[in-house]
Amino acid sequence: MDELEEIVFKHALLNAAKHNGNANPGAVMGSIMSSEPELRPRAKEIGPLSGKIVAQVNALSLEEQKAKMEEFGVAVEEKKQKKEEGLPKLPGKNKDVVMRFAPNPSGPLHIGHARAAIPNGEYVKKCGGKFILRIEDTDPKRIYEPAYELIQEDLKWLGIEPDEVYYQSDRFEIYYQYAEELIKRGAAYMCTCDGGEFKKLKDNCQACPCRDNTVEENMELWKKFPEMEAGEAVLRVKTDINHKNPAIRDWVAMRIVEEEHPRMGTKYRVYPMMNFSVSVDDHLLGMTHVLRGKDHLANSEKQKYLYQHMGWEIPEFVHYGRLKMEDIALSTSKAMAGIEDGTYSGWDDPRLGTLKAIARRGIQPETITQLMVEIGIKMSDSAISWKKIYGLNRNIIEQKVNRYFFVPNPVKIDIADVPEDDLGLAIERPLHPDFEERGNRTLVFNREVYIPEADLTDGISRLMDAVNVEIKDGTASFHSKSFEDAREAKARIIQWVPTDAIKAKVVMDDASVTEGLCEIDCNDLKVGDIVQFERFGFARLDEIKDDELIFYYAHK
Ligand code: GLU
Repeated sequence: MDELEEIVFKHALLNAAKHNGNANPGAVMGSIMSSEPELRPRAKEIGPLSGKIVAQVNALSLEEQKAKMEEFGVAVEEKKQKKEEGLPKLPGKNKDVVMRFAPNPSGPLHIGHARAAIPNGEYVKKCGGKFILRIEDTDPKRIYEPAYELIQEDLKWLGIEPDEVYYQSDRFEIYYQYAEELIKRGAAYMCTCDGGEFKKLKDNCQACPCRDNTVEENMELWKKFPEMEAGEAVLRVKTDINHKNPAIRDWVAMRIVEEEHPRMGTKYRVYPMMNFSVSVDDHLLGMTHVLRGKDHLANSEKQKYLYQHMGWEIPEFVHYGRLKMEDIALSTSKAMAGIEDGTYSGWDDPRLGTLKAIARRGIQPETITQLMVEIGIKMSDSAISWKKIYGLNRNIIEQKVNRYFFVPNPVKIDIADVPEDDLGLAIERPLHPDFEERGNRTLVFNREVYIPEADLTDGISRLMDAVNVEIKDGTASFHSKSFEDAREAKARIIQWVPTDAIKAKVVMDDASVTEGLCEIDCNDLKVGDIVQFERFGFARLDEIKDDELIFYYAHK
């Protein structure tokens, strides 16, 4: 094998490896020309050589090809790079993982939540194992009751089906059991100090007097705990009183909450703090990895003490960067306030960044998944914008949806002097020019048509695929027919619909409504379908009401 043959052979092997053992001569040629520019002048020679060598490579079994790749020292690099673009390998084990999404039920999920839910879901899909949904409802003040249901619906929309679902409010007795166990191990104590006093001591690396309580004294207070007033006592987990971060020093594990719980009523008064219930559950439910935002770094540090006191194995904690959402997701509390005062129509108001709102607009769950996988779990912060979401979504839906004419704010024109032959002409347009197999739609041209009000301006315009008209002072007359004539006259190309068009309304992303007309073929659409209104944008059919189609606008 001479030098050139060897180069071709290597490229053929690489191409075969990417395509299940079957290299393609054209692709091999292309790959040589792009990566070995000095060989370009020898293209005429390389063409036939590629054909010959590709045939030889394709005749080898997959094992033989692999062996040859090793022999020639080539490896498919491009693929590796692609993999790195997705989610990286997890620390620790990458098989049979147990991971969780643990939202507070304060509202439905928004894009920010997807950041936590999707990587967990994707890792479980990739590594096998278990995905747990744990609803963290141990703060009655932060519970919005419908969220119990909404969260599950939203996860389902994202394509994530939890293997197990837990509500923390069902687990109070478990938390009590471990609180007692910690007390018995001398690792937690009942603290009756005034909060401010405790803080003063703690900030000076000094233990409070309660830290020296005996186990018996602690147990006695613990038993009386449910009868105490809020603020009278807390249960603290011992950490390092000299820890460099004062927040970590002897953190609160349990406290009194007097609010009524939506699920539990007034049954419990002693409530676990987030760090306590999260660690107990992460351990008991067998979490192998805990992915959380880097704003939880100090919490992870606190939780490690509890694991150590109990002699539990610490899961792999992975902290990812902040997600800046610019104009996207309003905080749940602001959205809720806006819904209550009537500013927003509901959780699916098109101005909100909830998953319900974006689903209504035709943003695909795959779009959100792709976005979150792309962002990954790196420590550095990331920013997302609507523009980014629209770009990804367009790539996904462009392939699937059909195109129609939509005339916003329509005005009727009656075109004078149309030649008899051109009246009643059935104009066929493809449902999508790139997918002829989908067939055509038909628009019948007559002298009366609707055009967008904004296009009723003086000059020559081409009614797309029909005729060219001259508009003057709001009246239209026939100008010419062909596309060439339109080009010569520098006509603007405008959309139109026949007079039998269907009423359509598009709720825009700012919640304003654009009224218009769409072609009669839109009658074949069903609720949930997405269309591309030519020159207007993508929209999802949301409702059919009294012969009117109501769409939600997605994006350009
Ligand atoms: N419920 C907590 C949150 O949503 C969970 C935090 C964690 O990942 O441990 O912030």
